[in-house]
Amino acid sequence: MTEDASSRKELAAIKGTKDILPGEVEKWQTLEVLVRETFELYGFRELRAPVFEATELFEKGTGSTSDVVTKEMYTFIDKGGRSLTLRPEYTPSVVRAIIEHRLDLEGAPMRYYFMGPMFRYDKPQKGRFRQFHQVDIEVFGEKDAAVDAEVIEMADALLRKLGVIGTETLVNSVGCRACRPAYSQALRDAAGKRRSELCLDCQRKEETNPLRIFDCKVEACQAVARSFPVIQDFLCGECRDHFSKLLACLDIYDIPYRVEPRLVRGLDYYTKTTFEIVSRSLGAQNSLVGGGRYDDMMKNFGGPDICGIGFAMGMERVLSIAEVAPPKRKSLYLAYLGDEAQKAGLELARYFRANGVECLVEFKDRGMKAHFGRANKLHAAWVLVLGEDEIKKARFGLKEMGTGRQVDGTREELLAILRND
Ligand SMILES: [Zn+2]
Ligand SMILES: [Zn+2]
Repeated sequence: MTEDASSRKELAAIKGTKDILPGEVEKWQTLEVLVRETFELYGFRELRAPVFEATELFEKGTGSTSDVVTKEMYTFIDKGGRSLTLRPEYTPSVVRAIIEHRLDLEGAPMRYYFMGPMFRYDKPQKGRFRQFHQVDIEVFGEKDAAVDAEVIEMADALLRKLGVIGTETLVNSVGCRACRPAYSQALRDAAGKRRSELCLDCQRKEETNPLRIFDCKVEACQAVARSFPVIQDFLCGECRDHFSKLLACLDIYDIPYRVEPRLVRGLDYYTKTTFEIVSRSLGAQNSLVGGGRYDDMMKNFGGPDICGIGFAMGMERVLSIAEVAPPKRKSLYLAYLGDEAQKAGLELARYFRANGVECLVEFKDRGMKAHFGRANKLHAAWVLVLGEDEIKKARFGLKEMGTGRQVDGTREELLAILRND
């Protein structure tokens, strides 16, 4: 390998990360616009937190027994000797920000959204990245189950705007502090009886967090888990009422759902509602949106006793099946001949851009034919020709590339044509 080739190899993007190039990025931009438009209709406001936080934040927030914390965090020691972690999910950052800025004093409910990169040291595989992107929403201070239904409806509305069809909404309740311990114990007993059939990971979960066995991908474990008692039989009165109100509200919104008693989701903090929207057109990794309620998180962080609910949507996965048409660009290529024309071209380009016309200028001396070749390559819709004659008369020729139509006029006249196009 030559020195050149080896240094190129060293400088490649890190495994599990990906460049989003022009051509693809337009789909992302369309998604981002739709996210903002949709969520703001529901009164959500954007909250941007830093990319890295103290490691304890995620250990405490995400849960020290979750796979995310035990296996997948991007943790490093900074030069000050402090352990920092690139956020693996967004909710703990929002909780921290609310407590730190006392946003709760502004009154409840608080509705926030965010879009951006998250980081997990996961095994890179098809459709899974170590730097991936999520849309995230959180509502704090609203304990009514109607808001649980509202956020599910909002996710559903966004997916429909994105042309994502063939989805299924799964809902469950994982109980609360009062009723879950009895269920965990029942699971522990059931798992204990069939311990030898479980994978090593699940044998460990049996002690630490038996609900997590439902998340195991090993077929034998899933078979055992199918025989476990279901949580609906253990819910306290409050959790039962909350769940039935959620289902009643989903009916009002006309959102079909399936109650999935084994949907516990991979994080420790959920209470009451959990939900997922899955796609039938994706394979094993079919979850588009996942979320739930976390009524104890704020208090566990030493903040006020404020309940919360939220969801995260994987942007890569949604974009892989979304039907979004990127906005059509119509740009003007400015072709000039000679130094004087270049100077006049600068002013003309400034005029068109100031009036909202995308204007491409290349500072390379070329003949007219070469200019048209470049305009073609750049998919310019129009070419404006600028030579000494045009400058003298202050009238310019405009050619529409698609049709070959040519017009002639002052810059104001041409602007009117470009704007109407
Ligand atoms: Zn309960
Ligand atoms: Zn297992």
